[in-house]
Amino acid sequence: MTQVAAPVDGLNLIGGSRRPARDGATFESRSPAHRDEVVGVFARSSSADVDDAVAAAAAAFRDWRRTPWPARGDIVLRAAQVLERRKEELARLMTREMGKVLVEARGDVQEAIDMGKFIAGEGRRAFGETVPSELRDKWAMTMRQPLGVVGIITPWNFPIAIPSWKIFPALLAGNTVVFKPAEDTPACALAFVEALREAGLPDGVVNVVFGYGEEAGEALIRHPQVRGVSFTGSVEVGRHVSEVCGAGLKRCSLELGGKNAIVVLDDADVELAVDGALWGAFGTSGQRCTASSRLVVQRGVLLPFTEQLRERAAALRVGDGLDERVQVGPVINEKQLGRIHGYTEIGVEEGARLILGGAVSAEGDHADGWFYLPTIFSDVRSGMRVAQEEIFGPTTAIMPAENADDALRIANGTSYGLSLSVYTRDVRAAFRAVEELEAGIVYVNAPTIGAEIQLPFGGIKDTGNGHREAGRVALDQFSEWKSIYIDYSGHLQRAQIDTE
Ligand code: NAD
Repeated sequence: MTQVAAPVDGLNLIGGSRRPARDGATFESRSPAHRDEVVGVFARSSSADVDDAVAAAAAAFRDWRRTPWPARGDIVLRAAQVLERRKEELARLMTREMGKVLVEARGDVQEAIDMGKFIAGEGRRAFGETVPSELRDKWAMTMRQPLGVVGIITPWNFPIAIPSWKIFPALLAGNTVVFKPAEDTPACALAFVEALREAGLPDGVVNVVFGYGEEAGEALIRHPQVRGVSFTGSVEVGRHVSEVCGAGLKRCSLELGGKNAIVVLDDADVELAVDGALWGAFGTSGQRCTASSRLVVQRGVLLPFTEQLRERAAALRVGDGLDERVQVGPVINEKQLGRIHGYTEIGVEEGARLILGGAVSAEGDHADGWFYLPTIFSDVRSGMRVAQEEIFGPTTAIMPAENADDALRIANGTSYGLSLSVYTRDVRAAFRAVEELEAGIVYVNAPTIGAEIQLPFGGIKDTGNGHREAGRVALDQFSEWKSIYIDYSGHLQRAQIDTE
């Protein structure tokens, strides 16, 4: 019998002190594999708690913005080292709290470690420009400035990696943070912030308010002292966040949903494409913004691809992610389980052919968790809702294509634009696809998941609003440019006028 850890004590973190919500309200985080297991009890914050957290962040900003970039980078680096040391413990906590299998939970923590190491280096490299002035005895240059207090709002599916993508660069750029993590994964969020505290982050530089989106989240995006909001989540909520930020003239960065496709052309290595589809569609139980939820397959390879995928997916082991043999964990909660099954019913009604799964699994070990069987539809056409809407579960749709052009057209035929991939052995087809695919991320001969932190991450169309996370551009959403002119001529010089 495995020993169940004591529930996490989920007080807010405000100005360096752990505090309950002002009105004493709490909520629980429970394990999706064992719904009776309480992972922690957390403060359910209201606008009063958000006010306290913003005040603490604003007070800490005065000194943090003056801390040299390399010194801020050192703290980020030390936090990455703390995460590295605690990787296994954090991965286990993550599997308990949100269900992804251990090997993927380790990958999630690793992504945060990589992000910390990468962005810490930017502390000695956050270049501005020095450019020639049009006038004599005058210099012109730029430097990055922090925004001030920024609000960070995250989803549950990458409960340590996504906070790291936002909080590390926000801090490096000199901002202070109020962090409202997803209500399904508060324990992981707290563990991430504890790594920063252990690394020596001064009090008040990162503050955490636990709670619900419509309460704590809403108060955070509306707070007049919050100068920027970095949000990852659904399109529906993202649109709302954008409107509120627009009215307040706040910087707003959105990373939203996806309806990603793998394109398999006739000349593809079918076995390789099946490997990719299996990982892309069913990894993290399909709960990735980049999940391969559409498989656009050219007619010549449709039959072998479909048969192999069905056979391999049927053999996937579903269960508690803490069991190292399990390949597909539970889905996050009861509501999401119902939503995923609702899409199965919609697909059947629309005339798609259900060739695998399509059911809740509640027998034996699955009885007290939220498990859904890997599900495949074939004969899916572009107009169907299962081909257009994000399901966020272990469901994928095989869509036949007549030729390469048709395949690219189908792949581009959604409102989303996050990640698209193509399997082909023809270099010309590969480069054409790279050019034509409408997405922020394109893969050749790899599935739609697997981004690395040194490149920008984000999407076009309804997937976002033009910002990117990770890579060197990660600093852009968290900084303003200041242009500086230094005139040492000793007399008045007029730009655009005294240029002769
Ligand atoms: P969600 O939109 O329901 O919630 C995201 C966060 O927003 C949560 O912290 C929630 O509490 C908060 N929130 C909800 N209402 C709010 C409000 N009115 N004001 C402020 N905050 C509010 O999304 P989710 O279910 O947690 O995550 C799944 C979604 O996230 C999927 O659509 C997925 O594609 C997307 N996602 C995108 C990326 C990306 O980088 N593009 C990465 C991971 C997940």
